[in-house]
Amino acid sequence: MSSTPTPERAEKLHEGKAKIVYATSDPHMIIQYFKDDATAFDAKKRGTIVNKGVINNRIASHLFELLGESGVTTHFVAKLSDREMLCRRLQIILVEVVVRNVVAGSLAKRLGMEEGASLPRPIVEHYYKRDDLSDPPINLDHIQVLNLATSEEMLHIRREALKVNEFLVKYLDQREIRLVDFKLEFGRTTGGGAGAVLLGDEISPDTCRLWDKKTHEKMDKDRFRRDLGRIEESYEEVARRICGS
Ligand code: UDP
Repeated sequence: MSSTPTPERAEKLHEGKAKIVYATSDPHMIIQYFKDDATAFDAKKRGTIVNKGVINNRIASHLFELLGESGVTTHFVAKLSDREMLCRRLQIILVEVVVRNVVAGSLAKRLGMEEGASLPRPIVEHYYKRDDLSDPPINLDHIQVLNLATSEEMLHIRREALKVNEFLVKYLDQREIRLVDFKLEFGRTTGGGAGAVLLGDEISPDTCRLWDKKTHEKMDKDRFRRDLGRIEESYEEVARRICGS
């Protein structure tokens, strides 16, 4: 039986705040390299969370694998090493999709709601992925006018985001973690069957708010944003609960 060889890492395509994206010997695959760098507040606050890249790759790879098994198509192909994830190449749709179960962060501020209150149903929000504009909130009309995605694509994205939420809420609850909110990114495939919309990027304590179910302690990037200390320990604990020891 012949198996396809793993594509080799090639030139750097893009360096973001938390990851570097490399091309590979396969034009339809990329490698995401997870860094320890952390930024917040439009990159005005910068720092390092020791070993974050290794932990986030471990968590994201594990969750993408489980999501794949539960019927959500993602860009994940394989975890290649501690910091490298092999993924299908996507043309990223410039819409950040936030799903919320509990009031926190910008929702609390914008609507004057009390942080920690459970929402009666999940809220899906869209933000324009533009660092130079500080990722402003946008709605489906803005998305059409800006030509970011079609209404069919956005309908598919909403369904997928809610499926991810349903899966993660249950999975994390069983591991004593309350899923407050999280951000997803989607993109269009470039290879065979080009144009299919898949879940991309990562799911990790950098992109989710995760609270301990009993103590309500924050176990995510808010520890860095708000200088709460014990950042590395919290990320490690999330990995332990999600992936096992
Ligand atoms: N989030 C993210 N990247 C962003 C903005 C938000 O991963 O550029 C995540 C954030 O960690 C949280 C959720 O999306 O889990 C909702 O964030 P919110 O809109 O409350 O903004 P924030 O308070 O993080 O500025």
